[in-house]
Amino acid sequence: MANLYPWQHEQWRSLMLRKRQASMPHALLLAGAAGLGKQDFALTLVAAMLCLQPDQHGVACGQCKNCALLLVNNHPDFYLLCSEGDDKPIKVDQVRYLTQFLLTTPQIASLKIAVVYQADSMNLAAANALLKTLEEPEGNSLLILISNKPGMLLATIRSRCQLVPFTSTDSARQWLAAQLPQFNTDILLAISDGGPLSALAMAEQLPILEQTIGNLVALASHRLSLSAAISACQKIPLQNLLAWSIHLVSDIIKLHVTQTERFVVLRMDLSTLKKLAFAANLTSLYNYLDQLLALQKQLLSKVNVNQQLLLERTLYLWQLCWMEMKSCP
Ligand SMILES: [Zn+2]
Repeated sequence: MANLYPWQHEQWRSLMLRKRQASMPHALLLAGAAGLGKQDFALTLVAAMLCLQPDQHGVACGQCKNCALLLVNNHPDFYLLCSEGDDKPIKVDQVRYLTQFLLTTPQIASLKIAVVYQADSMNLAAANALLKTLEEPEGNSLLILISNKPGMLLATIRSRCQLVPFTSTDSARQWLAAQLPQFNTDILLAISDGGPLSALAMAEQLPILEQTIGNLVALASHRLSLSAAISACQKIPLQNLLAWSIHLVSDIIKLHVTQTERFVVLRMDLSTLKKLAFAANLTSLYNYLDQLLALQKQLLSKVNVNQQLLLERTLYLWQLCWMEMKSCP
């Protein structure tokens, strides 16, 4: 099953069994963190459903008429719906088009298939329009929804779809270690929220991450001035700096509270981290964590964001957490 990642095999086998038993649900919800290859899985599934001569595992042949049309993005019985931009919602007109598509008779395949990327980005009107289709499914159609945040979908939509969950398993960990033998893949996985493909993409950022954590630790230990820290972090995307800072603060809190390094994610300078945790004022750190989450929200909202001010505030508040600390770890 070369088209599938190792952590997707179980989901594949289960769906292929449903296909052989002619009991494939009308709607699937592929759900799980970003970076688990859900879109690739959905497209492999679409090909398998349309293919005239799939192999023993159910994977499409890549040769038949249906496969050939799909490969050139020209299959009349397949429709892919996604938002018109990263920050834009899926609108009701787009969903209406999709439902019309599903209602018509298949042209050359035995069923019609639609895939919706980032289904959680549907606005309310779009979600309600989709709900109608889910309530009255057509006999020969399959709708595949994909979501990194299934909790943001209407509960009524979730309950009408067969859930296909994706998680980062041991096989995902092993796969990533084989792709990046020279890297600490545990750190990469932890800062990518567990998605092995996100972790792979994050690999080239690792030296910058290590340098940034070094600078933040130096700022906390009074070994680096605020202005030098601001200048060192100038070129780092702010969303990365905030996400990494959240990991760092959480690590120090965990070290302080549990007195064990077992749960620490950023392990590149554990001895200094332990000294900081020992000297830390827990209330200040929790306050800072709240402030970081608020800054992250402000950045995501894209409303009146002054990137330079946000960077300076992030580092100033971090320095403030350590003002009372007398000795330099
Ligand atoms: Zn085929």
